[in-house]
Amino acid sequence: MVGGGIPDDTGNEIIVSLGRMDRIRSIDRTNDTMVVEAGCILANVQAAAVEADRLFPLSLASEGSCQIGGNIAANAGGLEVVRYGAMRELVLGLEVVLPNGDVLGEIAQLRKNNTGYDLKHLFIGSEGTLGIVTAAALKLFPRPRSTATAFCGLQSPEDALEILSRVKEQCGARLSTFEIISARQLEVVFRHIKTASPLDKRHSWYLLIEITDSILDAGLSELLMDTLSACIEGGILSDAVIAQSEAQRSEFWALRHVISESNLHAGRVLSHDTSVPVSSCAAFIRQTERALSGRSDMELTFVGHLGDGNVHAVAIFDREKVGSAEFEARASEVSNIVYEISASLGGSISAEHGVGVSLRDKLATFKDPRELSLMRSIKAVFDPTGIMNPGKLFSACPSNATS
Ligand code: ZN
Repeated sequence: MVGGGIPDDTGNEIIVSLGRMDRIRSIDRTNDTMVVEAGCILANVQAAAVEADRLFPLSLASEGSCQIGGNIAANAGGLEVVRYGAMRELVLGLEVVLPNGDVLGEIAQLRKNNTGYDLKHLFIGSEGTLGIVTAAALKLFPRPRSTATAFCGLQSPEDALEILSRVKEQCGARLSTFEIISARQLEVVFRHIKTASPLDKRHSWYLLIEITDSILDAGLSELLMDTLSACIEGGILSDAVIAQSEAQRSEFWALRHVISESNLHAGRVLSHDTSVPVSSCAAFIRQTERALSGRSDMELTFVGHLGDGNVHAVAIFDREKVGSAEFEARASEVSNIVYEISASLGGSISAEHGVGVSLRDKLATFKDPRELSLMRSIKAVFDPTGIMNPGKLFSACPSNATS
């Protein structure tokens, strides 16, 4: 998404593949942990957890191919962050090879460990700039045995936030997914795949809500139905349908999963990965709509993780009107508007995709210079010669350019 794993065109960089380090080293059902090697495919980690009657909750569209080491380096987010947190919150310990060849080999599997700086957090989200993660201890959770999934239609993002509050109040920690989709975004999907909306009428906004429980027959459909019925009676929700079968649940999820692909068919895609405090999501959406409305060269859609304050604003440029040469200038213009709005609301320009090369030069504008300076100092401690993923996160250090 941001070019974090792509070498530059000098021909002087090498890529280290950890794909063959794909062993599940151990699973501890009492400690609720598993130790896995960095090359394990995420879906295989999930499956190994299920085999031990546990859940590893990280869930992404690319879970069939992405590797856990990359998930750690990128601090991956995904679809269940509202309940379980991003990758950072799912890691207890790491094994890391440092640029000088030293190995940090003691993989902590502790829930509590107050012995000073927690170095693992430096590597999580470091985008490979400090060292190479080779294995990790991951947290496991009880496996969900009951699930209820709703697809909802509503009027406004303000109402969506009120519904989020009510679902959290009524369903507590069971809430595992709360995704928002704009009407235009769903229309783009319908233009490219032959499927119908789960709801009869058109609505301005849609929600995909899922709650789960480790108890069998937990009565979740009734709980979710009661909660959403109260929202309809309160005038903040227009319509909702709860999946009556696993097949119907998959249909709801398919609409969410197919969005990125549909957008690529629709035009030249510029997706933003900003986050704001959850309470500011509606303001973010409104201000972005206002700032970009009236442009005839693109359509603006929204999709994302409302429960985490991470709504992706997606600009889809008309291929006919905007050639590939023009795209870059227009993209930069639109992105700056979106980033300024996010920043004015106390937000971040990268919630879950990272910095890579795409956002590297924006950090100078959107991150505190004192923080950036400390980050550079940390990089110099671990990687004084700048050999680790040079040019990502920061511009390549000068000593590396001459070596
Ligand atoms: Zn996302």
